[in-house]
Amino acid sequence: MAVPISQMWTVASYVIKQRLKGEKHFPLVLMLEPLFRCSLACAGCGKVQYPPHVLKRMLTPEECFAAIDECGSPMVSIPGGEPLLHPKIVEIVNGLVARKKYIYLCTNALELKRRIHEFTPSKYLTFSVHLDGEREHHDFAVCREGTYDIAVDGIKEAVKRGFRVTPNSTFFDGTDPNSVRKHFDDMMAIGVEGIVLSPGYSYDKAPDQNRFLGRARVRKLFRAILSNRKKSWKFNMSPLFLEFLMGDRNYDCVPWGMPAFNIFGWQRPCYLLQDGYVDSYKELIETTNWDEYGVPSGNPKCANCMVSCGYETPAVIDGFGTLKGFWGMVKGTFSTYKDSHALKLLSEFQTELHGPLVQIEKPEEKLEETRA
Ligand code: SF4
Ligand code: SF4
Repeated sequence: MAVPISQMWTVASYVIKQRLKGEKHFPLVLMLEPLFRCSLACAGCGKVQYPPHVLKRMLTPEECFAAIDECGSPMVSIPGGEPLLHPKIVEIVNGLVARKKYIYLCTNALELKRRIHEFTPSKYLTFSVHLDGEREHHDFAVCREGTYDIAVDGIKEAVKRGFRVTPNSTFFDGTDPNSVRKHFDDMMAIGVEGIVLSPGYSYDKAPDQNRFLGRARVRKLFRAILSNRKKSWKFNMSPLFLEFLMGDRNYDCVPWGMPAFNIFGWQRPCYLLQDGYVDSYKELIETTNWDEYGVPSGNPKCANCMVSCGYETPAVIDGFGTLKGFWGMVKGTFSTYKDSHALKLLSEFQTELHGPLVQIEKPEEKLEETRA
């Protein structure tokens, strides 16, 4: 695992403290969405389809600080939309760093190189750069040619300036695991801290509904990608969560571990689903019927989900909250997961050639339309 010791220690002591206090629900990562507007319109995105008047709205720094002060999680993920389009993003980041929160600023990196000088390197700040694989695959996934090269340039600049950087990849049906493994090599050679990866969630608002994976196919794909690992690969995620993706472990969804706050309020129950909003974190925890979510609930919206906002929290709690889990985490950190069956799987996955790149929506026009 590539997470620095100080961050691991902060998270471990937080989890242990919550368990000793007997807290049933506690937040690990606040998913803070300061805006939904973006400079891209990816085929698998469930966030940028709002009407222009919604895309114009943004959280103020004060609203962001009130959210983190109320929920108290040790980590904050800032997705979107594209956070670097928020005019006060530097003030938001600095305020969170001052609160000693470990921040993952998720960005498509189109603006990263231009704005990087506004940020100060810190152990609390990581740029989590959206990069869905090698050049051809990434440009296809985000529906715009040239974005891979811009993002990689941004990553190199951030690494050069001493920032923590983690490329963040989402994989859909048709992903070639051989290409993903090559992508890992490329990223580690650039000098990123570690890799973050996830299967896509089947947003019903996403423009392309044919690319989402069911659970069995997620496990097969991630087993092919993550078995027989190279020692040079580092992951900025719980090794137990990666084992969950490979089908070696089972966890139930813990949506309260990564509560989501955006311009509408606290989103019920998680970053992915929108079953209403409430005004406070307390209300979210106390009035949500958590039993209605996750696979055992039979909720069809959860049936195929294996996304980190539901399943990484139980892996982290397992890893830091039980001796068996901790030992599994240590073993997972150093194992290469040798698996001859998975090697055969690699040759089974055919490189499915993509059709011509389709621009779902012209981003320039969308920006014009939605600029605040
Ligand atoms: S980069 Fe793509 S997935 Fe991310 S918010 Fe923008 S449109 Fe959505
Ligand atoms: S299973 Fe996925 S969609 Fe359902 S509540 Fe959990 S994280 Fe959200």
